[in-house]
Amino acid sequence: MKLTTYLIFLVMMMRTIDYYIAKIKEQREIDRSVLHEAFLEDFYAKNKELQGIDRDIVAQRTNKIIATLDGDVEAARVADILKIRLCERREEYLKAHNIRPDYETELPICDKCNDTGFYIGSKGRRRVCKCMNEALEECYEASGLGNFTRISKKNYDENYCQNKDRRRAVLTKITKIYQHMVESRNNIWLYIDGIQSGKTYLSVFLAKQIIGVGDSCAYIKLEDISDMSEVMSEIVKGCDILFIDDYSGALTSSGSIGTDLNNILEMRSGMDVPTVIITNESLAEIIAESDVRISGKLKFAERV
Ligand SMILES: [Zn+2]
Repeated sequence: MKLTTYLIFLVMMMRTIDYYIAKIKEQREIDRSVLHEAFLEDFYAKNKELQGIDRDIVAQRTNKIIATLDGDVEAARVADILKIRLCERREEYLKAHNIRPDYETELPICDKCNDTGFYIGSKGRRRVCKCMNEALEECYEASGLGNFTRISKKNYDENYCQNKDRRRAVLTKITKIYQHMVESRNNIWLYIDGIQSGKTYLSVFLAKQIIGVGDSCAYIKLEDISDMSEVMSEIVKGCDILFIDDYSGALTSSGSIGTDLNNILEMRSGMDVPTVIITNESLAEIIAESDVRISGKLKFAERV
């Protein structure tokens, strides 16, 4: 398979939030039509006269089709007149009983997103609707965020660690990186800060926000990079932004981690999608201790 064909295939196969929403939408369509059938049954039981009118309208429609096929112009005309009268009676009935004229149409289960799963937020960006929380959770899980249930937009704490200004700057910078608003040589970024400075907290928060607007994102610790599920591996290779946390140069020289990381970085650079490497090691340490293929790349990485 050619690389470009493979990359297109990869993006198509990737489990973004759309994939999980599509699954729920499929089930919801079934639920909606079951609900609607139950509603109609109950509705007609209470509106027997209307049920009769609706049946007669269908019958006259059929009569007209048969008459037209038979070439019986007069019978077709009569069917038309009867149908018009029935429609008038129907309209009167609906008005008198205060019934919405489109009662035969299935209503969406969620008013906010009309069952599309998305709505347009105040800043004009699409957002995943609350009714799709289950899809969001599944997507978080698949994207490596399953263990961070406590980090969310609702309980985001800017004062989580001492260095508020620095963290705010990082948040802005990574947002720009993922929106391709800043240029870099190889689309690899180093997010270097001390131990206990809230790097993981911020990265997970950002990752969830990115998924919440319908884009794809993954979070993984370096030590897990050689032991990913197939789904996670797809997401890691092709997602809009990837966070690799707990980076340590020495780790890239052990086992297959160096090779696997190198493959991921090369594939992502080829697709021009950003990767953020998070670490508390200094640049000098990183360059000195990393696998030579990795240090060659990180030398040119921009800083967050
Ligand atoms: Zn909704």
